[in-house]
Amino acid sequence: MSTPSPTPPTWTAPPPDLPNQSFLTVSIIPAGYLDLFEEDFFADQAGNQSTRSVPSLAFLLRNDTTGENVMFDLGLRKVRWGGETCGDGMRVNLKVEKDAADVLRTGDVKPEDVQKIVFSHLHWDHVGDVSSFPQAHLYIGPGASPRLKPNFPFPSHPSPITELTIPPSPFGAFTHSLDLFSNGTLYILDAPGHFPGHIVAAARVGPGTFVLLGGDCCHCRESYTTSVRQIPECNHEDVVVARETLGRVREHGKRGWCALLAHETERLGECPIYPEVLREFSAVNLA
Ligand SMILES: [Zn+2]
Repeated sequence: MSTPSPTPPTWTAPPPDLPNQSFLTVSIIPAGYLDLFEEDFFADQAGNQSTRSVPSLAFLLRNDTTGENVMFDLGLRKVRWGGETCGDGMRVNLKVEKDAADVLRTGDVKPEDVQKIVFSHLHWDHVGDVSSFPQAHLYIGPGASPRLKPNFPFPSHPSPITELTIPPSPFGAFTHSLDLFSNGTLYILDAPGHFPGHIVAAARVGPGTFVLLGGDCCHCRESYTTSVRQIPECNHEDVVVARETLGRVREHGKRGWCALLAHETERLGECPIYPEVLREFSAVNLA
């Protein structure tokens, strides 16, 4: 198996903290579990349809100055979608005892108080159930809107849906970034290859400290840390571009960033889970 790209991506230091910078507290929201095939993780497992169960993680990002609540992804939903988008007929086992809204209610954040939801992409295991978040303005990545259908994944949602435009603006190892709220707290990074409009996010969680929310750039930790095994064509719409994007995530990992994939099983055993927050964890683990 060939090694990842030998040329490391160009690195551009993220913008420094602003005067009176506000920060985000990040909480992990386990929003159901699904089985993935081994061939979904690695190119060298083509045809291997033994499975492993992984979580679908959503993330609550709370501005510690304004109290604004933002979600990054919603994970799985309890009621399956009909037709091809639901996982039915795909031989995928799902377990969703609590969806993202249920988990939020176990703490002090009501789903109705979530003002914004940013989706890494529109796959069914990330879009959850927006009906529990009627106040939320929805954000999708550039080029994602052609994948919206009349009833999927946001039927009759009363609040706006915005397809983001991400300009050329280097951030870390990424080439395109958007300071979503113009306050330096959350940068949306163009992360193409997995699915049209796939994005990741960098959340500023403390002075000079970010957490990278990696979506589905890859599906297990090994792929962005030590592994030289390639991610597979069967799980990424443009695997060449996806491997280039993964190289950018890997560069952040090499530099000591805390990266959190949507299906990173290890996080459940080692990280505080909502209603706990990640700030101390991520700071301790940054070199
Ligand atoms: Zn996924």
